[in-house]
Amino acid sequence: MGEKYDVIIIGAGIAGLTAALYSARQRLKTLVISIDLGGQLLLAPELQNFPGFISISGLDLIKRVEEQARLYGSNMVFDQVTGISPVENGFEVSTLSGSKYLCDAIILAFGKTPKELGVPGEKKLKGKGVSYCVICDSPLFTGKDVVLVSWGYHGAEGAIRLRDYARKVYWVFPGEKPVDDEAMLQEVLRKGNVELIPYSEIVEIVGDEKVEAVVIRNKKASEERKLEVSGIFVEIGYVTKTDFIKDLVELNEKGEIVVDEYCRTSREGIFAAGDVTEMPFKQAVIAAGMGACAALSAYNYIMKLRGKKAVLTADWRHLSMPGKEKEKEGRGLFLKLK
Ligand SMILES: Cc1cc2nc3c(=O)[nH]c(=O)nc-3n(C[C@H](O)[C@H](O)[C@H](O)COP(=O)(O)OP(=O)(O)OC[C@H]3O[C@@H](n4cnc5c(N)ncnc54)[C@H](O)[C@@H]3O)c2cc1C
Repeated sequence: MGEKYDVIIIGAGIAGLTAALYSARQRLKTLVISIDLGGQLLLAPELQNFPGFISISGLDLIKRVEEQARLYGSNMVFDQVTGISPVENGFEVSTLSGSKYLCDAIILAFGKTPKELGVPGEKKLKGKGVSYCVICDSPLFTGKDVVLVSWGYHGAEGAIRLRDYARKVYWVFPGEKPVDDEAMLQEVLRKGNVELIPYSEIVEIVGDEKVEAVVIRNKKASEERKLEVSGIFVEIGYVTKTDFIKDLVELNEKGEIVVDEYCRTSREGIFAAGDVTEMPFKQAVIAAGMGACAALSAYNYIMKLRGKKAVLTADWRHLSMPGKEKEKEGRGLFLKLK
């Protein structure tokens, strides 16, 4: 089981990493457990609305926040959390790899997860030719044939990117046209290596060790066709996967976590931030702000557990960092005593 953490943060998107930065700055022993580093921002080639940057890629933004969180001592492991149980004096967090961790407080920041097709072969071939991220994985398919399942403006962006790497792209979509913007469609088709496959859906992904073919069905003609490809990209939206915590904290009808203005969930000691919550505005800056709020609330909760009276209302102190000699702790308002 190992050592006990003060705070465990689930998810390393912008919400979780900001929470980690805030938590570690309060010198709480902090662990982030996440499937990946970056979450949805990995799919955002350019953000133009994150304060402080006229334009920044999601990946660059994430790398900066990760560096900042690690600088203050936050730890991170890559794993999928599969269960959380209240135990005496805190919580036990279990993961897919079989690890178990103990902590006093939890911050749920596991955002949204790419929607799956739910067809035979998909689960088995995930990461073996089945990808949910064109921007992350398209270079892996350089010179190969691939299927893209997506539509709209986002789908067209994906098709343009894939067109530049793959030898051939089969773009499968359910309607007559994949995107309304004619200029964008022409740009997709410019190189002549994208085949449009309208009115269609995926029936099966075929392969043993890796993707070898994809079976599609034309719903209008009721015909099936087998495409010999090395990969399939699925970008059909996002879902909130909160099933594993449904008996632990209150969820709304969409499965999102209900929180108050302090990012507290219905269970004491568990906080939540970002897209996984019922907050209607799914935006990076809002997720980051909620991450900070959840971490400050977790700090106050832990201080209360330990019988300390100090209540944190802001984090304005300047801590020493590598390359900076002087500790300037104490500048600004830090603690408001009850
Ligand atoms: C294509 C695209 C473009 C976008 N463009 C913009 C934009 O321009 N401006 C803007 O403000 N917003 C934009 N957004 C929205 C923004 O990316 C999200 O609002 C924000 O990233 C949400 O952050 P989050 O940390 O709450 O969740 P996420 O980014 O979803 O991160 C969740 C993290 O949790 C991890 N995780 C999930 N389940 C588990 C589990 N069971 N165990 C462990 N880890 C888990 C995931 O691996 C991930 O690291 C865009 C989103 C997309 C998809």
